[in-house]
Amino acid sequence: MTADLENRCVAIIENLWHANPEEKPMGTSTVGSLEARMLGGLAMLFRWKALAKKAGIDIYSSTRPNLVMGSGYQICWEKFCRYWDIDMRLVPMDENHLSLDANAAVALCDDHTIGIVPILGIIYTGRYDDVKALDAAVEKYNKKAKVPVRIHVDGASGAMVAPFIEPKLEWDFRILNVWSISTSGHKYGLVYPGIGWIVWRSEKALPQELIFNVSYLDGTEATMAINFSRSASQIVGQYFVFMRNGFEGYKAIHQTALDVAQYPAKEIGKIGPFEMMGTAEEVPIICWHMKKGFDRKWTLYDLDDRLRIHGWQVPAYPLPENMQNVTV
Ligand SMILES: *Cc1c(COP(=O)(O)O)cnc(C)c1O
Repeated sequence: MTADLENRCVAIIENLWHANPEEKPMGTSTVGSLEARMLGGLAMLFRWKALAKKAGIDIYSSTRPNLVMGSGYQICWEKFCRYWDIDMRLVPMDENHLSLDANAAVALCDDHTIGIVPILGIIYTGRYDDVKALDAAVEKYNKKAKVPVRIHVDGASGAMVAPFIEPKLEWDFRILNVWSISTSGHKYGLVYPGIGWIVWRSEKALPQELIFNVSYLDGTEATMAINFSRSASQIVGQYFVFMRNGFEGYKAIHQTALDVAQYPAKEIGKIGPFEMMGTAEEVPIICWHMKKGFDRKWTLYDLDDRLRIHGWQVPAYPLPENMQNVTV
């Protein structure tokens, strides 16, 4: 019955992300989206190996395969790249590009690129990368590429918000080069930790080598997750909240959270020293920095410290590489 609940959850998520049933989408639950991302990354690596071999590229040469993403990535991608010996190619952030610059990302691609990872809900600012613009750049690149590049969307937070709040925003399987999407059930999926989900757009998107058939549990079980035995409680929890809230319930909960977050975003923006960088337009995350040239005897770290005394955790941290001088 748990396997059945899991399949139902996968079907609901496929539907939310506009997978086309005729392409035979596939998906699984995972332990948080870290495992989901490992699987998404491995599928990209295995697909690349097969295609590169066919294209006559030496996959055992001293050139490592590479993965392209914006510098606002979450640490788990660094883990993926280190564990599997993949060269991480980062598109730096700058003041004009607080999310992924599509052309700069494609410019980093070559015959050894296994994929590009845009993020829906960059952890630093809460903003979405523009998947549609990336797709256009990728489409152009693929016309001449020996190995076509596909997109994995890290939708840890946004993939469980956008379908309800911005149904017209195209970031998911409506976009043809998006071959897989991962999300955390325990963020805006509204389940206790830890559960994640990954869906591939088609059978073709998930290399056969990553699917294992288990005969000793009744001959029918196919498994593609890394973890084998695990608690089923999160799957049951996910199914329960899907059923309990329904589409309208999720929409109402997320909209309320956004409304709540937008209030302090507006008010904090009015206080002299601060300039807003994220105002909870997409996910209920707000973020700000000190105005340039504001003459002060304290920093955002001091503010963090003061708020913590009162029991509020409002972390201050530097932006990634290239913008490290900006504390948010
Ligand atoms: C939270 C987050 C992760 C980590 O997800 P877990 O489910 O906690 O493993 C990865 N990427 C992004 C963009 C995130 O927001």
